[in-house]
Amino acid sequence: MASTTGTLYIISAPSGAGKSSLVKALLDAQPQVRVSVSHTTRPPRPGEVDGVHYHFVSREDFIERLQRDEFLEHAEVFGNFYGTSQRWLEDTLAEGYDLILEIDWQGAQQVRRQMPLTRSIFILPPTREALRQRLTNRGQDSDEVIDGRMREAVSEMSHYVEYDYLVINDDFTHALGDLQAIFRANQLRQETQQQRHARMLSDLLA
Ligand code: 5GP
Repeated sequence: MASTTGTLYIISAPSGAGKSSLVKALLDAQPQVRVSVSHTTRPPRPGEVDGVHYHFVSREDFIERLQRDEFLEHAEVFGNFYGTSQRWLEDTLAEGYDLILEIDWQGAQQVRRQMPLTRSIFILPPTREALRQRLTNRGQDSDEVIDGRMREAVSEMSHYVEYDYLVINDDFTHALGDLQAIFRANQLRQETQQQRHARMLSDLLA
């Protein structure tokens, strides 16, 4: 992979932890951060827009892309395929943007192997009760369906130890502040600052 100036971040969370709202607020506050739009074979939910939330594709289309090696990582989650386009990711990082991948733990493992400098963040709900409440609030689902989602969430959360940072989403504003602190600290790393301020540094040391 070409040398890049932006930093790649992975953000994972069980569904119901509030990841999408936090990432949206982070993007509003940080103009140098972009989020990758994954390809998926899952059908759009009400309100989801093709090309914005996901690139919605058929299984055949997804498999063709997989065979053409278009994905940096891919995974099957709850019976649907999801994948991250490698080309867009490389171009965006090369332009100097920080880039977020909102992917699951399986994809995170694949990305870490290929790009060891990736920073990974796991977002957790504060309690099981809060998670159950958030999963229940989503619609008029039966207890059985909600129990199933809880089991999936617990299975996803068991991978938190593989991540660099943990953010607990108890209070939205606090959790957003934590995420911003992670991004800011990484932007101030010596190697990143050296690239960003090459001219100033060479003037200072002339
Ligand atoms: P949802 O269908 O609810 O949007 O996402 C289901 C799960 O798939 C979430 O854990 C989400 O992070 C994960 N996911 C979304 N896009 C990708 C992707 O491109 N790769 C992988 N590995 N997981 C993804």
